[in-house]
Amino acid sequence: MARIVRVARSSSLFGFGNRFYSTEASHASSTPSPFLHGGGARKVAAKDRNVQWVFLGCPGVGKGTYASRLSTLLGVPHIATGDLVREALASSGPLSQKLSEIVNQGKLVSDEIIVDLLSKRLEAGEAKGESGFILDGFPRTMRQAEILGDVTDIDLVVNLKLPEEVLVEKCLGRRTCNQCGKGFNIAHINLKGENGRPAISMDPLMPPPNCMSKLITRADDTEEVVKARLRIYSETSQPLEEYYRNKGKLMEFDLPGGIPESWPRLLEALRLDEYEEKQSAVA
Ligand code: AMP
Repeated sequence: MARIVRVARSSSLFGFGNRFYSTEASHASSTPSPFLHGGGARKVAAKDRNVQWVFLGCPGVGKGTYASRLSTLLGVPHIATGDLVREALASSGPLSQKLSEIVNQGKLVSDEIIVDLLSKRLEAGEAKGESGFILDGFPRTMRQAEILGDVTDIDLVVNLKLPEEVLVEKCLGRRTCNQCGKGFNIAHINLKGENGRPAISMDPLMPPPNCMSKLITRADDTEEVVKARLRIYSETSQPLEEYYRNKGKLMEFDLPGGIPESWPRLLEALRLDEYEEKQSAVA
């Protein structure tokens, strides 16, 4: 495990400073992003570091659920840029006001802001000794993918997929306990199979009784905003699939159902099923 890309101490993001560097000389980025200056970033061979994975997929597909489970299994941080945005929203100040207008309309935050938030999160993780990452919700634009590619190597991009009807229902059913912070889903999904598409059913993930009265819904999980987010995803983020497919890094994964059906299949697809069994046995 061990040494990975390290976050430099310079002022701003992988955007505006040389935040990522390795402890050993590796190759410098050949086409530095205009966001980067001051020598460019260096990369570390995959064998000398923890995994650097990206989760792609439409809003509501379950990136957070599976990325978080894998982060626990592999001991790498799960970094969701949507969470970083919500934390920034919850803080007071001009950024919060600016973000709330964008997020509540389902639009994307600017590349500069998101890269800055991510950079700060990586820097804080680095200070705590974190290594590797599973990114969820980043990159979301081609520009972000290019910036990421300039500063580090991504090993694998997992593209989670579900039919659109299911995505809308799942977003509308999403709830979070405002005390313990855990996520739940009250939607009962039962989509009939048709035209070669398999049936999909997902049981709700109900909160325990002590969370029941403390459930909150995300402000951007209304039907209108979810549909806007899905539209923006297909316009802005779908090209990323092609980008990573061409690099031979994309793993497509059609979710067969809820967590009980999907998790073991995902582990199998990632060839982590035996690893998970061993980890569970020693736990
Ligand atoms: P999510 O929780 O991933 O659905 O993100 C919630 C909201 O945060 C999105 O609708 C965007 O407004 C913003 N956001 C999250 N990640 C990004 C990103 N990589 N680029 C731009 N905006 C983002």
